[in-house]
Amino acid sequence: KVLLEVKDLTAKIAESGTQILKGLNLVIYEGEIHAIMGKNGSGKSTFSKVLVGHPDYEVTGGTVLFKGENLLDMEPEERSLAGLFMSFQSPVEIPGVSNSDFLNMAYNARRKKLGLPELGPLEFYDYISRRLKIVNMDTNFLNRNVNEGFSGGEKKRNEILQLAVLGADLAILDEIDSGLDVDALQDVGEAVNELLTPQKSVLMVTHYQRLLDIIKPKFVHIMVRLLGNMVLMLQLKVHGRREDGKIVKTGDISIAVQLEKEGYKGISS
Ligand code: ADP
Ligand code: MG
Ligand code: MG
Repeated sequence: KVLLEVKDLTAKIAESGTQILKGLNLVIYEGEIHAIMGKNGSGKSTFSKVLVGHPDYEVTGGTVLFKGENLLDMEPEERSLAGLFMSFQSPVEIPGVSNSDFLNMAYNARRKKLGLPELGPLEFYDYISRRLKIVNMDTNFLNRNVNEGFSGGEKKRNEILQLAVLGADLAILDEIDSGLDVDALQDVGEAVNELLTPQKSVLMVTHYQRLLDIIKPKFVHIMVRLLGNMVLMLQLKVHGRREDGKIVKTGDISIAVQLEKEGYKGISS
């Protein structure tokens, strides 16, 4: 079953009007893990943020269907309620608000929208303790203020905690491996794997193959920004199905590594 269908998506930076995405195509089926790689500035974060409805960007063309519904018509909050989650490359700090209060609020807001009764503090503590265990995180995370004074690695873990608590059918993970040492990367990757079920999908943005060795994608896409802000999506099949779209090269994950090393020229089709 198709979960996300992006067709000929174009988008610009709202403030400057600079066109960043020019005709991006991507189809994600339920349960699939996809990775996007590409050089800095190729538009990976822009694409991720456009999907969650970030106000810095304006969609200028194309369509995005999520569970068959027009995602671009929805407010960011509706997208989240519909089952979309994004961990940001640079998570924001919320001074003075503890993680547990923040998550309790966010989770109850979601339950309310879904017509479910809100959880009281004790019930929530019970729920979040179980979620913490799944992602193998210490309970002291709950008492700290949201991302305040967190190291880069702790911020990334905190994003995964939010995902664990709020849940998502499609989790967009933008560079969750940045700033992590090898052990922390392993932990974070395994935490994401623990949250996965056969129905859940992931779209991860990364520069490093290391993350893909832990969270194993079915497809790797390479975003390339050419002159004139053209963004292409090259699709590399890791295993399984072939997609329509701009397939320049089909191969296994090693091609993504090759591209990182040699650049676009290195994978001439
Ligand atoms: P990536 O995540 O692949 O490194 P980005 O999507 O962050 O790339 O950026 C793509 C291009 O758009 C870059 O040139 C970046 O400077 C520019 N850009 C992205 N967001 C903004 C913004 N909010 N304001 C100004 N420029 C932006
Ligand atoms: Mg970048
Ligand atoms: Mg980025």
